[in-house]
Amino acid sequence: MRNDLKARRQALKQRLRELSAVLAGEPEAAPEPSLAAHAAEAEIASIHAALGRMDRGEYGCCASCGEEIEDARLDRLPFTAHCGSCAAQLR
Ligand SMILES: [Zn+2]
Repeated sequence: MRNDLKARRQALKQRLRELSAVLAGEPEAAPEPSLAAHAAEAEIASIHAALGRMDRGEYGCCASCGEEIEDARLDRLPFTAHCGSCAAQLR
């Protein structure tokens, strides 16, 4: 479980680097940020939040119901703060 968390943290940091590269590729003089930049910024914020939950030992627990988030879901969305059923209700 510990190793798992380490691997997930590393994956999140890797993803942050990729997203930073997306943002760095944006032309600075663009009148408004592209959809890709918006999406990248939103994901960066989610990843930072997820890293913060890791530091507090809350990572992997649903922010709504407190249940453990399904592994398969964390594989797909490593920065998610909600379990599948809560996310479905939030949608
Ligand atoms: Zn939940």
